[in-house]
Amino acid sequence: MPPAPKSSTLASILRQRCPRCREGSIFRYSIFRGLPKMYESCAVCGLKFEREPGYFLGAMYISYGLALITIALIAVGLWAGTGWPITKAAIWAVGLFLPLAPTLTLLARVLWIYLDQSFDPQRN
Ligand SMILES: [Zn+2]
Repeated sequence: MPPAPKSSTLASILRQRCPRCREGSIFRYSIFRGLPKMYESCAVCGLKFEREPGYFLGAMYISYGLALITIALIAVGLWAGTGWPITKAAIWAVGLFLPLAPTLTLLARVLWIYLDQSFDPQRN
């Protein structure tokens, strides 16, 4: 019997699975349910998630981009849905975005690990 196919990259990112084996969890529980701690390495294949000190600094750029996109989408939705001036919609969008910030920060870490592994795979 052939081995089960690896799940898609998008599904693996949303499920916060290891980018190498797509089975081991990156976090102790889902980032969509709280603020879980990260595992040091994959329990299945041993991939080290934080490769070096300061490794997740790059994730801040992704987090910043995700925040801007999310705020813009909320603002446009409010502006189109309510007819408010765009400045009022933007201020409300920032306020509505704040509860999402921790989850997006952790999602940015997952995206950073995937990005890093696609450019510079860890082979140990
Ligand atoms: Zn793994």
